[in-house]
Amino acid sequence: MLYFVYDVRGIKKFIFESLEFKAVIGASELLRKFDEELREKLKGKVDFYGGGGTGFGKLKDPSYKNEVESIFKDLVKEKLLGHTVIYDFVDENSFEDKEFQGKLQSAAKLGNFGKTMSKLFFALNLKKTRFDTYKDSIGIIAQIPKDKLCPSCMKREKISDYCEVCSKKIEMGKETKNDSVKFTPNLTDISECIKGQSKGYIAVFYADGNSLGDIYLSFDRIEDYEKFTRELSTAIEDARVSLPQKVYGGKECIVASPLTGGDDLMLFVSPSKLIPLIEEFVNFMDKRLENIGSSRKITFSIGAVILPAETPLNLIFEAVEELQDKAKESHQKALEDGTKEEDHYIALRYLTESSFTPHIEEDYPSAKIVYGKGISYKEFEMVKNIAENYAKAGLKSKINTIKDMIRSSDSASELEISTIYFLGRAEGSGGSAGKDSFKEAAEFYKNIINKDMFGVFYDIYSVLSNEWEVKKCQNQS
Ligand SMILES: [Zn+2]
Repeated sequence: MLYFVYDVRGIKKFIFESLEFKAVIGASELLRKFDEELREKLKGKVDFYGGGGTGFGKLKDPSYKNEVESIFKDLVKEKLLGHTVIYDFVDENSFEDKEFQGKLQSAAKLGNFGKTMSKLFFALNLKKTRFDTYKDSIGIIAQIPKDKLCPSCMKREKISDYCEVCSKKIEMGKETKNDSVKFTPNLTDISECIKGQSKGYIAVFYADGNSLGDIYLSFDRIEDYEKFTRELSTAIEDARVSLPQKVYGGKECIVASPLTGGDDLMLFVSPSKLIPLIEEFVNFMDKRLENIGSSRKITFSIGAVILPAETPLNLIFEAVEELQDKAKESHQKALEDGTKEEDHYIALRYLTESSFTPHIEEDYPSAKIVYGKGISYKEFEMVKNIAENYAKAGLKSKINTIKDMIRSSDSASELEISTIYFLGRAEGSGGSAGKDSFKEAAEFYKNIINKDMFGVFYDIYSVLSNEWEVKKCQNQS
């Protein structure tokens, strides 16, 4: 049996290399068209499975090889604008099971289909390694004079305003409408400012499925894989359209969303919509993927960030990716510890300045404040509910006092006593001070401060206590 397998190298780079958001949207649209047209053009020759820059398929007859190769190469040139794609034709029987299994770590979990698939990607990886070695050995990049550099990618030579690749991407990156959702290529359309201020902010949500590779490899039949990936990608696409409608609650609903394909969802929304979006996403996926037919619950790692709208695009992507990595790390750790049940993980940051270290641990003599920590959805809901109550009560100066107390305490026990005493009294300032408010304060200490979640709490609290406004913000042009 002859198989065809390919992988677009650095798919994220292809999509996110530009400083122009229109080009980012356009690149993701090109990728979608590439997948679509490849499927269409290979019909009758290859049983094809793929999307989001990776795919494979079984040739109906080995004699189709040259034709498939030329269709593929033409499409890479036309839709991916010559971006590097590694591909290979693999004869399944060219690997001895014994030789191959020795190189595989999780061989025990492999289903029959998983075995074939991992052979294909094993072969492709060998080719990738050879390619990278070759590329490193050339290692010469032509110097382009500064005045001739494309202002969008800062990589290639510009022809008119931009280089050829960026021009084509920008041309593709137009506004689209889907039912009541407007997908905009202009981030100014979604920014909000805090009441009384003029600086615009935007929010980015970026979710990615947790260790789906393991699930793919456990399948016995290709039909199981096909059904699973189809249902997952349809769910993602439905979420992309229906969740904005939900969180904007019937008001004019504008979002921006580069398509990344597969099990990824990235949405740019107004800051006030970020937390509702996280909740709606989790609820939606839990219901939708409940019966998808996998051995374990499908969960996502979510990076979420609010930052000034004028932040350069590449830094926005870096920030939200770093946060998603933090969420993934925590998910992985919980899995290894085996202490928690499978859950979604979230790392959220509210950056008031264009600071580019979203995950920070501020250390103090006895306690620390960790910002951008990856926490489970269960923990997220707990922190959010407390933050919501505090925001409603308008306790901003008290929250800042607690922050100072964490910073200045010499010991954990001193911090515990002073927090509980301070909060217990503060809460009861309306005259009802008593056992209950001290009990609440003790809960706050136990769940928020003691679990290193004050940084997370502080960010969520700040987002919730701000009055966000759509109009009259200063934005990037
Ligand atoms: Zn360019």
